[in-house]
Amino acid sequence: MQYRTMPKSSDKLSILGFGCMRFPTLEDGKIDQEKSFAMLHYAYQNGVNYYDTAWPYHDGESETLLGQFLKQIERSSVYVATKLPCWKVKTREDMDSYLNQQLEHLQTDHIDYYLLHALNKKSFPAMKKLGVFDFLTQAKADGRIRFAGFSFHDNYKTFKNILEAWDWDFTQFMLNYLDTHYQAGMRGYNLASEKGIGIISMEPLRGGKLVQTMPDEVAKVWKNDPNTPLERALNWVWNLEHCTVLLSGMSSPEQVKENIRLAKKAKAGILNDKDLSRYHRARRAYIRKIPILCSECRYCLPCPHGVAIPSVLGTYNEAIMFDNKARHQMEYQMFIPEENRADKCVSCGACLAKCPQHIKIDEWMKVITEYFS
Ligand code: SF4
Ligand code: SF4
Repeated sequence: MQYRTMPKSSDKLSILGFGCMRFPTLEDGKIDQEKSFAMLHYAYQNGVNYYDTAWPYHDGESETLLGQFLKQIERSSVYVATKLPCWKVKTREDMDSYLNQQLEHLQTDHIDYYLLHALNKKSFPAMKKLGVFDFLTQAKADGRIRFAGFSFHDNYKTFKNILEAWDWDFTQFMLNYLDTHYQAGMRGYNLASEKGIGIISMEPLRGGKLVQTMPDEVAKVWKNDPNTPLERALNWVWNLEHCTVLLSGMSSPEQVKENIRLAKKAKAGILNDKDLSRYHRARRAYIRKIPILCSECRYCLPCPHGVAIPSVLGTYNEAIMFDNKARHQMEYQMFIPEENRADKCVSCGACLAKCPQHIKIDEWMKVITEYFS
């Protein structure tokens, strides 16, 4: 296993981090503990020393399971990360209360890397107002946390605003070879690198979409490439020298083994210009397939009839881009409530003038209704 030093500490973190959000489960939806402990121990024995969990993962079971695992090994030989569930916090006292409960779940007296979970344009000002910087400063001073950071899902402007608002130790955001210009993306990577703070990358496979079905246009780009889709996706992230840890939410023993095998031979700068130009062409091939150029600015909302316009358009775009109707049909039904779907559009036209991209939203809603029906 290879290790990189967290810029603001002397901690040497394994370049592969264990994301504890996708453990294998039993029929009742609970974590399959036997399998999950075996996966955690295999990773530990093979040098993985960074374990990332969060309050909501597996409905709270993930933190508890990780806590049991910490009791089975030498606590000081690993680094533990978990996150404050910002959307549940209503007062300054709540922050201490959640952290103290998390220390209990994890059966430890300190959390090495503590993050504010999923900060965005809306939650960051609210957390600031409630005194989150005072909370983090206090928790560091009394030793309950060692380093403070935030995980992030929003646009680059918001990322910059948050990053520059405080003396963070590290940040965690989506980094993969497709999304270089999406959310924080490579601009976020460059900014965090300049500031000298640690970068934990998540979603290297874009939720598995980069290794599932591959459109013909993308497959053509990778023709004769000896690497597997998984290897390509992970190597692109490991090639970035300021990315301290790549988090992988592994859900089977086979995935743990394969991720570790690849991590053992990965290193920064492994990709040459020719390789990088191929990634660039693959990215362009994906992007060229996007049928609706929605920037997710949300100016079209609210729709008086309840249509979740950006989510509906986004799910359809991804279905076409990844050539994977079945998976996105499932996502459409799982994540977009019935009352917010495309078929609720009555073509009132209220959204049209608000869209800076001049998207014919009402017409697309008809296409999407038929596609996902
Ligand atoms: S045209 Fe359709 S999507 Fe747009 S505001 Fe009217 S009902 Fe909503
Ligand atoms: S206003 Fe247009 S570009 Fe912005 S989210 Fe709505 S549909 Fe997309």
